[in-house]
Amino acid sequence: MVPMECILDQQLIDFFWLALNEPIRRTRKYHAEERFKQIAKQGWAFNSQIEDVLDYLDRRLDSHLFRIEDFAENIGLHWTTVYDRPKARSTFTSGTSALTAADALFFFATLERMGFQTDASFLANLLLLVLKPRNRTLFTNGELEVFWFNKFQHKQYPVSPIPGRKIWWDDTLERIKTPNGYKVELKQAENDGQKMLCITAPKYRKRPGPVETVCAVCGMQWQKGDPDSSAGHRKEHKRRVHYLEPKPLAEFLNEKENSPEPELVTAMSPPWKHKEMYERALAFKREFHYDFIQWESPTHDYDPDVNGFLFADTNNVIVGACSFRKRTYNDKEKWGLQWIWVCPKERRNGYLSARWNMFRERFGDFVVEHPVSDEMQSFLEKNGDSALMRYD
Ligand SMILES: [Zn+2]
Repeated sequence: MVPMECILDQQLIDFFWLALNEPIRRTRKYHAEERFKQIAKQGWAFNSQIEDVLDYLDRRLDSHLFRIEDFAENIGLHWTTVYDRPKARSTFTSGTSALTAADALFFFATLERMGFQTDASFLANLLLLVLKPRNRTLFTNGELEVFWFNKFQHKQYPVSPIPGRKIWWDDTLERIKTPNGYKVELKQAENDGQKMLCITAPKYRKRPGPVETVCAVCGMQWQKGDPDSSAGHRKEHKRRVHYLEPKPLAEFLNEKENSPEPELVTAMSPPWKHKEMYERALAFKREFHYDFIQWESPTHDYDPDVNGFLFADTNNVIVGACSFRKRTYNDKEKWGLQWIWVCPKERRNGYLSARWNMFRERFGDFVVEHPVSDEMQSFLEKNGDSALMRYD
Protein backbone atom coordinates (compact mmCIF):
# COMPACT_ATOMS: atom_id res chain seq x y z
CA MET A 1 0.00 0.00 0.00
CA VAL A 2 1.43 3.37 -1.02
CA PRO A 3 1.07 5.93 1.76
CA MET A 4 -0.39 9.32 0.86
CA GLU A 5 2.56 11.51 0.01
CA CYS A 6 2.55 15.18 0.82
CA ILE A 7 5.35 17.35 -0.49
CA LEU A 8 6.53 19.90 2.08
CA ASP A 9 9.66 21.97 2.68
CA GLN A 10 12.43 20.04 4.38
CA GLN A 11 12.43 22.77 7.02
CA LEU A 12 8.76 22.12 7.81
CA ILE A 13 9.27 18.35 7.93
CA ASP A 14 12.16 18.83 10.37
CA PHE A 15 9.94 21.11 12.43
CA PHE A 16 7.11 18.49 12.45
CA TRP A 17 9.53 15.84 13.69
CA LEU A 18 10.78 18.04 16.52
CA ALA A 19 7.24 19.17 17.43
CA LEU A 20 5.95 15.59 17.52
CA ASN A 21 8.77 14.73 19.91
CA GLU A 22 7.65 17.40 22.37
CA PRO A 23 5.19 16.55 25.12
CA ILE A 24 1.59 17.70 24.71
CA ARG A 25 0.76 20.79 26.66
CA ARG A 26 -2.60 21.51 28.22
CA THR A 27 -5.45 21.54 25.70
CA ARG A 28 -8.49 23.77 25.97
CA LYS A 29 -11.13 21.73 24.25
CA TYR A 30 -14.07 23.91 25.28
CA HIS A 31 -12.53 27.00 23.70
CA ALA A 32 -11.81 25.10 20.51
CA GLU A 33 -15.44 23.97 20.35
CA GLU A 34 -16.58 27.60 20.55
CA ARG A 35 -14.45 28.35 17.49
CA PHE A 36 -15.78 25.25 15.71
CA LYS A 37 -19.32 26.52 16.33
CA GLN A 38 -18.43 29.88 14.75
CA ILE A 39 -16.84 28.18 11.75
CA ALA A 40 -19.83 25.88 11.21
CA LYS A 41 -22.24 28.79 11.52
CA GLN A 42 -20.32 30.99 9.09
CA GLY A 43 -19.63 28.16 6.66
CA TRP A 44 -16.14 29.65 6.43
CA ALA A 45 -13.00 29.57 8.57
CA PHE A 46 -10.70 32.58 8.85
CA ASN A 47 -6.99 32.18 9.36
CA SER A 48 -7.35 33.71 12.83
CA GLN A 49 -9.99 31.15 13.85
CA ILE A 50 -7.84 28.27 12.64
CA GLU A 51 -4.91 29.74 14.52
CA ASP A 52 -7.03 29.92 17.69
CA VAL A 53 -8.10 26.29 17.37
CA LEU A 54 -4.49 25.17 16.94
CA ASP A 55 -3.54 27.24 19.95
CA TYR A 56 -6.26 25.60 22.06
CA LEU A 57 -5.64 22.04 20.90
CA ASP A 58 -1.96 21.66 20.10
CA ARG A 59 0.44 24.42 21.06
CA ARG A 60 3.32 22.52 19.46
CA LEU A 61 2.25 24.02 16.12
CA ASP A 62 2.76 27.54 17.43
CA SER A 63 5.90 28.45 15.49
CA HIS A 64 6.94 30.79 12.71
CA LEU A 65 8.02 27.63 10.86
CA PHE A 66 4.40 26.50 10.56
CA ARG A 67 2.36 28.87 8.42
CA ILE A 68 -1.34 28.08 8.18
CA GLU A 69 -1.83 29.64 4.70
CA ASP A 70 1.08 27.77 3.17
CA PHE A 71 0.31 24.43 4.76
CA ALA A 72 -3.34 24.63 3.60
CA GLU A 73 -2.10 25.20 0.05
CA ASN A 74 0.45 22.39 0.39
CA ILE A 75 -2.40 19.96 1.03
CA GLY A 76 -4.41 21.24 -1.92
CA LEU A 77 -6.81 23.71 -0.25
CA HIS A 78 -7.72 27.10 -1.73
CA TRP A 79 -8.30 30.34 0.10
CA THR A 80 -11.25 32.48 -0.97
CA THR A 81 -11.88 36.11 -0.08
CA VAL A 82 -15.22 36.51 1.66
CA TYR A 83 -16.90 39.84 2.49
CA ASP A 84 -19.15 41.24 5.17
CA ARG A 85 -22.68 42.12 4.11
CA PRO A 86 -22.49 45.67 2.68
CA LYS A 87 -24.29 48.41 4.65
CA ALA A 88 -27.33 49.92 2.93
CA ARG A 89 -25.59 52.97 1.52
CA SER A 90 -22.01 51.78 1.36
CA THR A 91 -20.10 50.82 -1.75
CA PHE A 92 -17.21 49.27 0.14
CA THR A 93 -16.89 46.30 2.46
CA SER A 94 -13.78 44.61 3.73
CA GLY A 95 -12.78 41.10 2.66
CA THR A 96 -10.95 38.37 4.53
CA SER A 97 -9.43 35.25 3.09
CA ALA A 98 -10.98 32.04 4.37
CA LEU A 99 -11.31 28.31 3.83
CA THR A 100 -14.74 26.71 3.50
CA ALA A 101 -15.79 25.05 6.75
CA ALA A 102 -15.44 21.61 5.11
CA ASP A 103 -11.92 22.46 3.94
CA ALA A 104 -11.05 23.65 7.45
CA LEU A 105 -12.15 20.23 8.71
CA PHE A 106 -9.85 18.63 6.16
CA PHE A 107 -7.05 20.92 7.35
CA PHE A 108 -7.42 19.80 10.99
CA ALA A 109 -7.92 16.16 9.96
CA THR A 110 -4.71 16.22 7.92
CA LEU A 111 -2.73 17.55 10.88
CA GLU A 112 -4.28 14.84 13.02
CA ARG A 113 -3.20 12.24 10.48
CA MET A 114 0.29 13.69 10.85
CA GLY A 115 0.25 12.95 14.57
CA PHE A 116 -0.95 16.27 16.00
CA GLN A 117 -3.77 16.57 18.50
CA THR A 118 -6.18 18.52 16.34
CA ASP A 119 -9.31 16.45 16.87
CA ALA A 120 -12.06 18.15 14.84
CA SER A 121 -14.82 15.59 15.31
CA PHE A 122 -16.91 18.30 17.00
CA LEU A 123 -16.75 20.38 13.80
CA ALA A 124 -17.45 17.29 11.65
CA ASN A 125 -20.65 16.59 13.57
CA LEU A 126 -21.83 20.19 13.21
CA LEU A 127 -21.16 20.15 9.47
CA LEU A 128 -22.95 16.82 9.05
CA LEU A 129 -26.14 18.46 10.28
CA VAL A 130 -25.84 20.93 7.40
CA LEU A 131 -25.06 18.31 4.75
CA LYS A 132 -27.36 15.47 5.76
CA PRO A 133 -30.72 16.77 4.51
CA ARG A 134 -31.73 14.70 1.49
CA ASN A 135 -32.36 17.73 -0.69
CA ARG A 136 -28.60 18.28 -0.85
CA THR A 137 -27.48 16.09 -3.73
CA LEU A 138 -24.08 17.39 -4.91
CA PHE A 139 -20.98 17.77 -2.77
CA THR A 140 -17.45 19.12 -2.98
CA ASN A 141 -14.48 16.94 -2.21
CA GLY A 142 -14.17 18.61 1.19
CA GLU A 143 -17.82 17.91 1.99
CA LEU A 144 -17.34 14.23 1.21
CA GLU A 145 -14.64 14.23 3.89
CA VAL A 146 -17.30 15.40 6.34
CA PHE A 147 -19.42 12.32 5.62
CA TRP A 148 -16.53 9.94 6.16
CA PHE A 149 -14.81 11.72 9.02
CA ASN A 150 -16.25 9.66 11.87
CA LYS A 151 -15.83 6.40 10.02
CA PHE A 152 -12.17 6.91 9.21
CA GLN A 153 -10.81 9.00 12.07
CA HIS A 154 -7.64 7.33 13.41
CA LYS A 155 -7.92 4.60 10.72
CA GLN A 156 -6.67 6.50 7.66
CA TYR A 157 -3.90 5.31 5.36
CA PRO A 158 -0.41 6.27 6.52
CA VAL A 159 0.66 9.71 5.39
CA SER A 160 4.18 10.72 4.38
CA PRO A 161 5.43 14.29 4.44
CA ILE A 162 8.34 14.20 1.97
CA PRO A 163 10.63 16.96 0.63
CA GLY A 164 10.35 15.69 -2.98
CA ARG A 165 9.56 12.61 -5.02
CA LYS A 166 11.74 9.83 -6.44
CA ILE A 167 14.25 9.62 -3.66
CA TRP A 168 15.40 6.34 -2.26
CA TRP A 169 14.63 6.28 1.45
CA ASP A 170 16.84 4.33 3.84
CA ASP A 171 15.62 2.30 6.76
CA THR A 172 14.01 4.13 9.60
CA LEU A 173 16.39 6.31 11.61
CA GLU A 174 14.10 6.74 14.56
CA ARG A 175 10.54 6.02 15.52
CA ILE A 176 8.20 7.38 18.18
CA LYS A 177 4.63 6.97 19.26
CA THR A 178 2.62 10.12 19.96
CA PRO A 179 0.40 10.36 23.08
CA ASN A 180 -2.67 9.63 20.94
CA GLY A 181 -1.12 6.52 19.47
CA TYR A 182 0.19 7.67 16.09
CA LYS A 183 3.42 5.96 15.00
CA VAL A 184 5.91 8.36 13.47
CA GLU A 185 8.97 7.10 11.60
CA LEU A 186 11.82 9.35 10.55
CA LYS A 187 13.63 8.18 7.42
CA GLN A 188 16.66 9.56 5.67
CA ALA A 189 17.65 9.55 2.01
CA GLU A 190 20.78 7.50 1.35
CA ASN A 191 22.62 10.01 -0.79
CA ASP A 192 21.70 13.56 0.20
CA GLY A 193 20.62 13.41 3.84
CA GLN A 194 17.05 14.61 3.16
CA LYS A 195 14.52 13.41 5.66
CA MET A 196 10.91 12.28 5.46
CA LEU A 197 8.27 11.11 7.91
CA CYS A 198 5.88 8.22 7.67
CA ILE A 199 2.95 8.53 10.07
CA THR A 200 0.56 5.67 10.75
CA ALA A 201 -2.81 6.06 12.47
CA PRO A 202 -3.37 3.96 15.63
CA LYS A 203 -6.36 2.04 14.24
CA TYR A 204 -5.04 1.66 10.71
CA ARG A 205 -5.19 -1.93 9.43
CA LYS A 206 -3.95 -3.12 6.09
CA ARG A 207 -6.89 -4.47 4.21
CA PRO A 208 -6.78 -6.34 0.90
CA GLY A 209 -7.92 -4.06 -1.90
CA PRO A 210 -11.05 -4.80 -3.95
CA VAL A 211 -10.61 -7.55 -6.54
CA GLU A 212 -12.03 -7.27 -10.03
CA THR A 213 -14.48 -10.14 -10.48
CA VAL A 214 -16.72 -11.30 -13.32
CA CYS A 215 -19.92 -13.03 -12.23
CA ALA A 216 -20.18 -16.46 -13.89
CA VAL A 217 -23.98 -16.25 -13.92
CA CYS A 218 -24.82 -12.71 -15.02
CA GLY A 219 -21.50 -11.73 -16.65
CA MET A 220 -21.27 -8.43 -14.79
CA GLN A 221 -17.84 -7.11 -13.88
CA TRP A 222 -17.62 -5.82 -10.30
CA GLN A 223 -15.18 -5.09 -7.47
CA LYS A 224 -15.28 -7.80 -4.82
CA GLY A 225 -14.55 -6.21 -1.44
CA ASP A 226 -16.04 -2.83 -2.34
CA PRO A 227 -19.46 -2.55 -0.64
CA ASP A 228 -20.92 -0.14 -3.22
CA SER A 229 -19.82 -2.31 -6.11
CA SER A 230 -21.14 -5.47 -4.38
CA ALA A 231 -24.52 -3.85 -3.79
CA GLY A 232 -24.58 -2.71 -7.43
CA HIS A 233 -23.84 -6.25 -8.57
CA ARG A 234 -26.52 -7.83 -6.34
CA LYS A 235 -29.15 -5.51 -7.82
CA GLU A 236 -28.04 -6.02 -11.43
CA HIS A 237 -27.61 -9.79 -10.88
CA LYS A 238 -31.25 -10.11 -9.83
CA ARG A 239 -32.33 -8.13 -12.87
CA ARG A 240 -30.24 -10.16 -15.33
CA VAL A 241 -31.15 -13.55 -13.87
CA HIS A 242 -34.78 -12.71 -14.63
CA TYR A 243 -34.09 -13.16 -18.34
CA LEU A 244 -30.93 -15.33 -18.25
CA GLU A 245 -32.54 -18.03 -16.10
CA PRO A 246 -36.23 -17.29 -16.63
CA LYS A 247 -39.01 -18.73 -14.49
CA PRO A 248 -42.72 -19.04 -15.33
CA LEU A 249 -44.59 -15.75 -15.02
CA ALA A 250 -48.13 -15.64 -13.63
CA GLU A 251 -48.97 -12.81 -16.04
CA PHE A 252 -47.91 -14.86 -19.03
CA LEU A 253 -49.86 -17.94 -17.91
CA ASN A 254 -52.92 -15.77 -17.55
CA GLU A 255 -52.32 -14.21 -21.00
CA LYS A 256 -52.00 -17.69 -22.50
CA GLU A 257 -55.50 -18.53 -21.22
CA ASN A 258 -57.14 -15.31 -22.37
CA SER A 259 -55.39 -14.00 -25.45
CA PRO A 260 -55.38 -15.37 -29.01
CA GLU A 261 -51.77 -14.17 -29.40
CA PRO A 262 -50.15 -14.30 -25.97
CA GLU A 263 -46.64 -13.72 -27.36
CA LEU A 264 -47.47 -10.55 -29.31
CA VAL A 265 -46.52 -7.17 -27.79
CA THR A 266 -47.88 -3.94 -29.28
CA ALA A 267 -48.26 -0.33 -28.15
CA MET A 268 -51.56 -1.42 -26.55
CA SER A 269 -50.03 -4.25 -24.46
CA PRO A 270 -49.90 -4.09 -20.66
CA PRO A 271 -46.72 -2.77 -18.95
CA TRP A 272 -45.42 -6.20 -17.82
CA LYS A 273 -45.04 -7.23 -21.47
CA HIS A 274 -43.09 -4.06 -22.20
CA LYS A 275 -40.80 -4.82 -19.30
CA GLU A 276 -40.11 -8.32 -20.67
CA MET A 277 -39.34 -6.79 -24.08
CA TYR A 278 -37.24 -3.97 -22.71
CA GLU A 279 -35.02 -6.22 -20.58
CA ARG A 280 -34.26 -8.43 -23.58
CA ALA A 281 -33.68 -5.46 -25.89
CA LEU A 282 -31.18 -4.32 -23.25
CA ALA A 283 -29.55 -7.78 -23.19
CA PHE A 284 -29.23 -7.61 -27.00
CA LYS A 285 -27.69 -4.15 -26.83
CA ARG A 286 -25.20 -5.34 -24.21
CA GLU A 287 -24.26 -8.53 -26.01
CA PHE A 288 -23.80 -6.99 -29.45
CA HIS A 289 -22.40 -3.67 -28.20
CA TYR A 290 -25.20 -1.87 -29.95
CA ASP A 291 -25.58 1.87 -29.42
CA PHE A 292 -29.07 2.09 -27.97
CA ILE A 293 -31.88 0.01 -26.53
CA GLN A 294 -34.39 -0.81 -29.25
CA TRP A 295 -37.48 -0.72 -27.08
CA GLU A 296 -38.87 2.55 -25.83
CA SER A 297 -39.15 1.91 -22.11
CA PRO A 298 -39.81 -0.80 -19.49
CA THR A 299 -43.46 0.35 -19.32
CA HIS A 300 -44.46 1.28 -22.88
CA ASP A 301 -43.55 1.73 -26.54
CA TYR A 302 -45.75 4.23 -28.32
CA ASP A 303 -44.75 3.25 -31.89
CA PRO A 304 -48.18 2.28 -33.36
CA ASP A 305 -46.49 -0.23 -35.70
CA VAL A 306 -44.26 -1.97 -33.21
CA ASN A 307 -44.65 -5.76 -33.14
CA GLY A 308 -42.72 -7.45 -30.40
CA PHE A 309 -42.81 -11.18 -29.82
CA LEU A 310 -41.96 -13.01 -26.66
CA PHE A 311 -40.76 -16.59 -27.21
CA ALA A 312 -42.22 -19.02 -24.69
CA ASP A 313 -41.07 -22.62 -24.26
CA THR A 314 -43.38 -25.59 -23.77
CA ASN A 315 -43.60 -24.77 -20.05
CA ASN A 316 -44.72 -21.22 -20.85
CA VAL A 317 -41.43 -19.74 -19.68
CA ILE A 318 -40.29 -16.72 -21.70
CA VAL A 319 -36.86 -17.60 -23.09
CA GLY A 320 -36.39 -14.87 -25.70
CA ALA A 321 -37.90 -12.09 -27.76
CA CYS A 322 -37.67 -10.20 -31.04
CA SER A 323 -39.09 -7.01 -32.46
CA PHE A 324 -40.36 -5.79 -35.84
CA ARG A 325 -41.01 -2.19 -36.85
CA LYS A 326 -42.12 -0.52 -40.07
CA ARG A 327 -39.14 1.08 -41.79
CA THR A 328 -38.39 3.02 -44.92
CA TYR A 329 -35.44 1.66 -46.89
CA ASN A 330 -34.54 3.56 -50.09
CA ASP A 331 -38.02 5.16 -50.16
CA LYS A 332 -39.69 1.77 -49.86
CA GLU A 333 -41.70 0.93 -46.80
CA LYS A 334 -40.82 -2.48 -45.40
CA TRP A 335 -40.87 -4.31 -42.13
CA GLY A 336 -37.58 -4.64 -40.32
CA LEU A 337 -36.58 -7.35 -37.83
CA GLN A 338 -34.65 -5.11 -35.45
CA TRP A 339 -33.24 -7.56 -32.99
CA ILE A 340 -33.69 -11.03 -31.66
CA TRP A 341 -32.40 -12.30 -28.36
CA VAL A 342 -32.70 -15.78 -26.80
CA CYS A 343 -31.14 -16.64 -23.45
CA PRO A 344 -27.83 -18.46 -24.04
CA LYS A 345 -29.02 -21.78 -22.56
CA GLU A 346 -31.91 -21.95 -25.00
CA ARG A 347 -30.11 -21.01 -28.20
CA ARG A 348 -30.27 -23.46 -31.14
CA ASN A 349 -33.38 -25.01 -29.63
CA GLY A 350 -35.64 -24.04 -32.52
CA TYR A 351 -37.55 -21.09 -31.03
CA LEU A 352 -37.00 -18.91 -34.07
CA SER A 353 -37.58 -21.78 -36.54
CA ALA A 354 -40.94 -22.49 -34.92
CA ARG A 355 -42.04 -18.89 -35.60
CA TRP A 356 -40.26 -18.22 -38.89
CA ASN A 357 -43.11 -19.09 -41.27
CA MET A 358 -45.50 -16.99 -39.23
CA PHE A 359 -43.09 -14.03 -39.43
CA ARG A 360 -42.65 -14.45 -43.19
CA GLU A 361 -46.41 -14.57 -43.73
CA ARG A 362 -47.04 -11.63 -41.51
CA PHE A 363 -44.19 -9.30 -42.52
CA GLY A 364 -43.36 -10.54 -46.05
CA ASP A 365 -39.83 -9.85 -47.29
CA PHE A 366 -38.73 -8.01 -44.19
CA VAL A 367 -35.20 -6.79 -43.62
CA VAL A 368 -33.02 -8.45 -40.98
CA GLU A 369 -31.31 -5.38 -39.58
CA HIS A 370 -27.64 -5.35 -38.62
CA PRO A 371 -25.78 -6.36 -36.51
CA VAL A 372 -26.51 -9.96 -37.57
CA SER A 373 -24.82 -12.61 -35.43
CA ASP A 374 -23.00 -15.56 -37.03
CA GLU A 375 -25.71 -17.84 -35.70
CA MET A 376 -28.40 -15.72 -37.33
CA GLN A 377 -26.48 -15.67 -40.63
CA SER A 378 -26.34 -19.47 -40.77
CA PHE A 379 -29.99 -19.66 -39.77
CA LEU A 380 -30.92 -17.43 -42.72
CA GLU A 381 -28.71 -19.45 -45.07
CA LYS A 382 -30.32 -22.69 -43.94
CA ASN A 383 -33.76 -21.23 -44.64
CA GLY A 384 -32.73 -19.83 -48.02
CA ASP A 385 -33.41 -16.32 -46.70
CA SER A 386 -29.93 -14.70 -46.78
CA ALA A 387 -31.36 -12.04 -49.09
CA LEU A 388 -33.25 -10.63 -46.12
CA MET A 389 -29.97 -9.21 -44.80
CA ARG A 390 -29.87 -6.72 -47.67
CA TYR A 391 -31.37 -3.28 -47.20
CA ASP A 392 -32.40 -2.72 -50.88
ZN1 LIG B 1 -24.03 -11.79 -11.11
